[in-house]
Amino acid sequence: MKCNAGEVVVRCRPMNQRERELSCQPVVTMDCARGQCFIQNPGAADEPPKQFTFDGAYHTDHVTEQIYNEIAYPLVEGVTEGYNGTIFAYGQTGSGKSFTIGIIPTAFEHVFESCAENTKFLVRASYLEIYNEDVRDLLGANTKQKLELKEHPEKGVYVKGLSMHTVHSVAQCERVMETGWKNRSVGYTLMNKDSSRSHSIFTISIEIYAVDERGKDHLRAGKLNLVDLAGSERQSKTGATGERLKEATKINLSLSALGNVISALVDGRCRHIPYRDSKLTRLLQDSLGGNTKTLMVACLSPADNNYDESLSTLRYANRAK
Ligand code: ADP
Repeated sequence: MKCNAGEVVVRCRPMNQRERELSCQPVVTMDCARGQCFIQNPGAADEPPKQFTFDGAYHTDHVTEQIYNEIAYPLVEGVTEGYNGTIFAYGQTGSGKSFTIGIIPTAFEHVFESCAENTKFLVRASYLEIYNEDVRDLLGANTKQKLELKEHPEKGVYVKGLSMHTVHSVAQCERVMETGWKNRSVGYTLMNKDSSRSHSIFTISIEIYAVDERGKDHLRAGKLNLVDLAGSERQSKTGATGERLKEATKINLSLSALGNVISALVDGRCRHIPYRDSKLTRLLQDSLGGNTKTLMVACLSPADNNYDESLSTLRYANRAK
């Protein structure tokens, strides 16, 4: 199996109202041209800032379109050529993951434009959520039902009973996504009222029948996964207890399983890639290694009171390079 390191970029959102009200100071700076990100420990002003280098660094004034054009475009283009591609948004709750996954409509447009160049194509969408290590279909008839992961000798790992929805246009794709989005489990923590405690995977599967110069039909099949990961914040800061603490432990487990898989793939020397350690990594197995492209967008808050979380996001992203 070919190991694919994929790309990792970092994105810092603007200061939000709460941070401004608390007179937070910015601790994240970037040298975007070099893909460098610096973070200053607010408790040790005399120390030099910690430095990280990624495939891209986007500061507060960069818009999602720019990230799309520079980084996501080639990945989505690859999907229309028959590769699998996965875009992850990683970071603490409120750092801009969902905002970044706002790339989706642009990706839809891109997919349909590419497909329209061919006479025969099929685009299908599915949307699932992993919550407490249970998989549920966000577009199914019964969104409460827990679905099982199965393994097929040719198809690989799949979710038994996951609904697939044929979509014919960008607008239809957006409607499907909207429906699923409303069905996501949202919990309450002290960090954010509607902090997301689940991972969600929106998948667009494309099949294109292209005709070559000799008039022969070729099937190109690719899959694009857009993964909005659960908040990476540690439990101590969220004040979670009981059920919430149980959830948080599972979230941390699957995020670290994902980190381990990615870093084993990046390392390239590892024979054993620990896909089986979580549902998330099992499900994404055929989209992480092998013939695939991945992009991780690590999202950061600029504020000093989020220093610890931002540093841990940068360290996580650094392992994934
Ligand atoms: P998360 O999904 O990580 O919990 P959100 O994407 O919901 O975070 O972002 C939290 C808030 O910050 C939202 O109100 C969102 O609109 C805003 N936000 C996030 N990233 C940006 C950005 N790059 N520019 C402007 N506003 C942003």
